Amino acid sequence: MGKKYDVVIVGTGAAGLFCALSLPRDKKILCISKDALDGSDSFLAQGGICVMRDDDDYDSFLEDTMKAGHYENRRESVDIMIRSSREIIEDLIGYGVEFDKENGQLAFTKEGAHSKNRILFHADVTGREITSKLLARVQELKNVTLMAHTTMVDWVCRDNVCYGIVMADMDGKTTTVEADVTVLACGGLGGVYEHSTNFRHISGDALALALYHDVELENVDYVQIHPTTLFTRQSGRSFLISESVRGEGAILLDKNGNRFVDELLPRDVVAKAIQAQMKKDKTEHVWLDFSPIPKDEILNHFPNIYQHCLEAGYDPLVEPVPVVPAQHYFMGGVHVDKDSRTTMEQLYAIGETSCNGVHGRNRLASNSLLESLVFAKRAARDIALIQEFKKADDFDTMVDLNSYEDLYTLMDNYHAMVVAEIKKQKKLREEKEKEHE
Ligand SMILES: Cc1cc2nc3c(=O)[nH]c(=O)nc-3n(C[C@H](O)[C@H](O)[C@H](O)COP(=O)(O)OP(=O)(O)OC[C@H]3O[C@@H](n4cnc5c(N)ncnc54)[C@H](O)[C@@H]3O)c2cc1C
Repeated sequence: MGKKYDVVIVGTGAAGLFCALSLPRDKKILCISKDALDGSDSFLAQGGICVMRDDDDYDSFLEDTMKAGHYENRRESVDIMIRSSREIIEDLIGYGVEFDKENGQLAFTKEGAHSKNRILFHADVTGREITSKLLARVQELKNVTLMAHTTMVDWVCRDNVCYGIVMADMDGKTTTVEADVTVLACGGLGGVYEHSTNFRHISGDALALALYHDVELENVDYVQIHPTTLFTRQSGRSFLISESVRGEGAILLDKNGNRFVDELLPRDVVAKAIQAQMKKDKTEHVWLDFSPIPKDEILNHFPNIYQHCLEAGYDPLVEPVPVVPAQHYFMGGVHVDKDSRTTMEQLYAIGETSCNGVHGRNRLASNSLLESLVFAKRAARDIALIQEFKKADDFDTMVDLNSYEDLYTLMDNYHAMVVAEIKKQKKLREEKEKEHE
């Protein structure tokens, strides 16, 4: 017989942890992670987190986000995100997160497609700073149980109501967990791509389950390619060279050492320009030249990137480094409303797994941590307001655990479903857009 919780949160990245912290302390919560508790993309975020600097910044922040998203964003969600941003930063500081300062005041940096400096950062390890502090605060909570190396393999659901999940431990042993509410905070889908900046285990599992159980998805073909990851012939996760490096002045060069694009255009535009240049030059990468950035700025603002480049055999202080685009972020996801509710009852989705429409067709740099936190808190508030939950008296017999015996094949099938859906939606969109040309 499975255990009973008030809330099960699937994922211990920024979204899942912040949701746990924002729920009432009298809720019994289970948070699971497929990998180690700190094995989330949230830990990898380098550049920073956006915030509306003051009321005068509202219009410009909104326009930058909408423009980057090709105006396909859900305006209501963008508005909510921007207006909540300062509260979220205060929460983070309250949880012990430290952002870099200049003369005692918070320092702001800039990335591509931002018309102003409005990004808070902690050197080039902002995600680690934020997420490690959130994890430490969650670990202090008596009402939260954290389980690492535990994988959600299915939902226990019927008639469009979710009653909990089926999860597997490291040895493949499956159990059911009953919960009033299930929150999907499973991150993106980089694991299904050959070249991605994401952890390999973050592979769109929730999307496959949504497809299987007929829960609405949105913009599944909106997958962001990051223009600049360190070129290497080794396999595994691609190392990101944050856009803030270009924001601080680094330039892109072709094989002859010539600039070929405005480096601060939106990501999709820069990535396309790099791919076109590589094709034209018949090269496997282009070059990123750090020399316009003062040396002490490289060492102080980008120590992690600097070190990583050195280890790969390139010294950014004296030579350009080879870079190539790679899959990076997922704008689409499980469709949710402004309170992070999916189309299935008692099932929420937050963070990169979800699509609340903030990002439209293309994400503005450093908006995703903010969006994850804002809508994780909204989910928590919404869950706290629910007075009564649907229960299944026959919960323990609703699923046959024997059907999950071959987990390896099952997870492989999930990944294949996700890849096929991306292809299908991409094709459908191309056809639709051609009709309108
Ligand atoms: C290299 C890199 C740099 C980035 N830089 C920035 C930046 O500077 N600013 C910014 O705003 N954004 C940045 N991003 C994006 C941002 O980090 C993510 O969008 C955001 O952190 C997503 O948070 P999340 O909580 O939704 O998911 P994640 O942090 O990815 O967490 C997903 C969690 O779900 C778990 N999980 C997945 N599937 C299952 C399953 N089946 N069962 C159980 N658990 C599961 C994982 O183990 C993990 O715990 C960056 C991303 C990368 C990869």
